[in-house]
Amino acid sequence: MKKKLFILLLISALFEHSVVSAAPAFSQEKLDTIMPVRGFCISAPRPKELDEFIKFIDEELAPRNVNTLILRVDYNYQYESHPELRDSVALSKKEVKKLVAVCRQHNIKLIPQVNLLGHQSWAGKTENLLRVYPEFDETPLVKMPEKYSWPNADGLYCKSYCPLHPAVHKIVFALMDEICTVFETNAFHAGMDEVFYIGEAQCPRCSGRDKAELYAGEVWKLRNHLAHDGRKLWIWGDRLIDGKTTGIGEWEASYNNTFRAVDLVPKDIMICDWHYERPDQTPVYFAMKGLDVVTCPYRVGSNAVSQAQDMVRFRNYSTPEMKEHFKGMVQTVWSGAGQFLDLYYGRREDKSENSPVKCFKALFTEIQSLSASE
Ligand SMILES: [Zn+2]
Repeated sequence: MKKKLFILLLISALFEHSVVSAAPAFSQEKLDTIMPVRGFCISAPRPKELDEFIKFIDEELAPRNVNTLILRVDYNYQYESHPELRDSVALSKKEVKKLVAVCRQHNIKLIPQVNLLGHQSWAGKTENLLRVYPEFDETPLVKMPEKYSWPNADGLYCKSYCPLHPAVHKIVFALMDEICTVFETNAFHAGMDEVFYIGEAQCPRCSGRDKAELYAGEVWKLRNHLAHDGRKLWIWGDRLIDGKTTGIGEWEASYNNTFRAVDLVPKDIMICDWHYERPDQTPVYFAMKGLDVVTCPYRVGSNAVSQAQDMVRFRNYSTPEMKEHFKGMVQTVWSGAGQFLDLYYGRREDKSENSPVKCFKALFTEIQSLSASE
């Protein structure tokens, strides 16, 4: 009798244990099946914001099963290969290692971003690369305005570096190698969005060249350098979409003929397809070109929810060949980490109906419920 009871208790204990331990593993597997990439993208925190940002990873990203964190580092790191390019206040190696540790603990893939090709200035400010090395400027005749406004006579949105300048890649590659090594990662985000200046008439190297070929050439160059160390290139997708034919416009898509590069770029890159106003169906376009794609919302929660549902639907209704290109969702935040955390933790009132905080919460609630209902 006692023996029977013992066996029964043992069985029930085993059963209970297996249920408890199997439940999270099962849901994780299901999540990975319906949405392999569940990402978050934001500026890397400044040193004084680091501890709270780590708490945010630990208490907010990890419990929502975020598994990819893109940090826009740019020059917010104390580069040893090029100290002249550091921001005046920048993350140390020790501080980056704290980010690496918390992400490793939660199985979050960390992807550092440095804006390459485009976005070498912002409004009236020249970013570090062209400030220190003005000879790389694609449009040296365009002077930075005292007071920036858009539109302007120069068509200046952001400066670009010249992709054919013979000295630019030695520096860019050193930054990429160093940032990937310190972040201990096998993926790098190069930005490459909103490149308005490319193949400009005033550039002695690029004038008259095909803009799609120039753009694709730069993607190949960066991709090949990363591939040498087994690393993958991530970029924003807007330059590869035809802005006029699709009506998507000149920001989220291209008006300067770079879009034909969609057939010229390497197939093993990741496209971050950002659309903030509508749930555009462009992931299908990228998948049909054989490119991996993630959809990136920003502020509008209802769009993010539709985009997540679309992503699951695309995976369900595709051939095996295309299905695996639909990788998932990445919430993008276009403020500094500190400003976002102020809103998140209620130090600043989140008045707007559409905010990155609300969109982030809506998106990850939806991903959770999609994995429960599928
Ligand atoms: Zn050039």
